Amino acid sequence: MIHKPKVVIIGGGFGGLWAAKALGNKPVQVTLIDRKNHHVFQPLLYQVATAVLSPGEIAQPIRRILANAKNVEVILGEAVGFDKEASAVLLGDGARVEYDFLIVAGGARHAYFGHDEWETCAPGLKTLEDAVEIRRRVLLAFELAERDAYLTGRQRDLNFVVVGGGPTGVELAGAIADIARQALAKDFKAIDTRKARVTLYEGSDRVLGTFASDLSESAKRQLESIGVDVVLNSFVKEIAPGRVKVGEDWIDCDVVLWATGVAASPLGKTLGVELDKAGRVLVEPDLSLKDHPNIFVIGDMASLVQANGEPVPGVSPAAMQMGTLTASNILAEIKGKKRANFEYWDKGTMATIGRSKAIAQAAGMKFKGFIAWLMWLFLHVFFLIGFRNRVSVMFSWFWAYLTRERSARLITGDADEMQDAVEFLQAARVEGSKKAKKGSKTAA
Ligand SMILES: Cc1cc2nc3c(=O)[nH]c(=O)nc-3n(C[C@H](O)[C@H](O)[C@H](O)COP(=O)(O)OP(=O)(O)OC[C@H]3O[C@@H](n4cnc5c(N)ncnc54)[C@H](O)[C@@H]3O)c2cc1C
Repeated sequence: MIHKPKVVIIGGGFGGLWAAKALGNKPVQVTLIDRKNHHVFQPLLYQVATAVLSPGEIAQPIRRILANAKNVEVILGEAVGFDKEASAVLLGDGARVEYDFLIVAGGARHAYFGHDEWETCAPGLKTLEDAVEIRRRVLLAFELAERDAYLTGRQRDLNFVVVGGGPTGVELAGAIADIARQALAKDFKAIDTRKARVTLYEGSDRVLGTFASDLSESAKRQLESIGVDVVLNSFVKEIAPGRVKVGEDWIDCDVVLWATGVAASPLGKTLGVELDKAGRVLVEPDLSLKDHPNIFVIGDMASLVQANGEPVPGVSPAAMQMGTLTASNILAEIKGKKRANFEYWDKGTMATIGRSKAIAQAAGMKFKGFIAWLMWLFLHVFFLIGFRNRVSVMFSWFWAYLTRERSARLITGDADEMQDAVEFLQAARVEGSKKAKKGSKTAA
C-alpha cells in the first residue's frame, strides 16, 4: 500500500477546521485533535451570554462537520507539547500522535495582564462554558435584586461593568442594556430593571479603536442611546469581589465582565520557537516554522506582518484563509510544487451594538445603524455552520426582534450549584459595599 502523508491538525476552530475541510478527500491521511468535541462560532458567543441564543445554536460537533471527509479522523484530546525531532504530538494522557505535517491552530484566550486572580470575579468570553457562566451571572443578578426587593422592600439599582471597548465589550454592554430595558422589564415586579446601570470602561480615547474614528464616535453614540455609560481613557486597575477600581476610585458593581487583552494559546511556548509579546508564534511568510518547514502555526496563534507593515489581525477570516492556504501548500509540496506565501484578504469589519444598531466598514465604504446591523445579521447567518443552526438562529432573531423577548433565559445548575452562585454574588456585593464605604470614609 502506498503511504499517504499524515497531517495532524491541533484545534477545530476556524483555522484548523478550514484546513481539515480543504484536505478532505485528498491524498493525505488527516487527524484533527481538539480538547472539545465541538466547533464554536465565536462571533455569536455574546448572544449566548446575553440569552438570545442557546449554546447548541452556535456550535456543531466537529465530527459531524467533517463526516463526509472520509480521510479525516477526529480525536478528542488535549495537546500538551511536541517532540519535534520525532515528529510527534504529545497528548495530556501520555499518548503520542505522529505526523509528517503538523498544523497548530490552538487559538487564544483572554489575558488579565498578569492578574489571573481577577478571572473569578470578572470572567471573559471565549468558550461556550464562559458564555453560559456570564449568562448565569447576569440573570442571577436580576433575580437576587428582585428577591432582596421582595423580602426587604428596598430597591437598589444594579450595576454591570464591562471592561474593554473592543467588539466583544461593545456587544456585551449593548446587549445587557437591551435586556435590562426591554426583555426583562415586564417580567420583574419588585424591581425596575430599566434602572440597571451598564458601564463600559475603555482605556483609550475611543471604543472600537480598529475602526475609522467617525465610526467609533457613532458606536459610542449608539451605545449611549440605549443607556450604556461609556467611560473613555479609564483603566480598571484592580478587581475584587463586588467592586472595581478605576483610577483612584472603587466602584460597587454586581457583575464585572472582562473583554480586553488576548494571549495566544500556551501551546505556542511548547514549540520552543520565538514568540511575540502576546505569546503568538513568529511564522515564516508561508506560515511554517523557520527550522521546521513541516510544522505550520495558523490563526490566532500566528504572528505575521503583512506587506503593508500591519500585523495580520486575529479575526476569523484570517484564520480561515490561513487554514485553506496551509492545506493547499501541503498538497502542493506532496506534488513537488512550490508553496505560496500568505496574503490576508481583508473583506471588511463590523461590530454590532444592539437591536438595529451596528457599524461596518468594507471596500472603502462605511455603514452605521440599521443598514450595518442588517449586513451584520446576514453575514453571520451565512457563515454559521450547519443548515439547522442557520434556520434556528434566524427564527430566534426574528422572534427576539418582533417581541423583544430573550428565549434562552434559563439559569441552569442543580440546587447546590445555584445556592453557591447566589452566595458568591451576594457575598461579592456585601464585600464590595463594605469596602466602598470604608474607602469613602478614609477619603473623607
Ligand atoms: C467573543 C468573541 C467574539 C469574536 N467575534 C469575532 C467577529 O465578530 N469577527 C471575527 O472575524 N472574529 C471574531 N472573533 C475572533 C475569532 O473568533 C478568532 O480570530 C478565530 O476563532 C481564530 O481561529 P483559530 O482557529 O485560531 O482559534 P479558535 O477558533 O479559537 O480555535 C481553537 C481551537 O483549538 C482547540 N484547542 C485549544 N487548545 C488546544 C489543545 N491544547 N489541544 C487540543 N485542542 C485545543 C480549542 O478547543 C478550539 O476548538 C471573536 C472571538 C471571540 C472570543
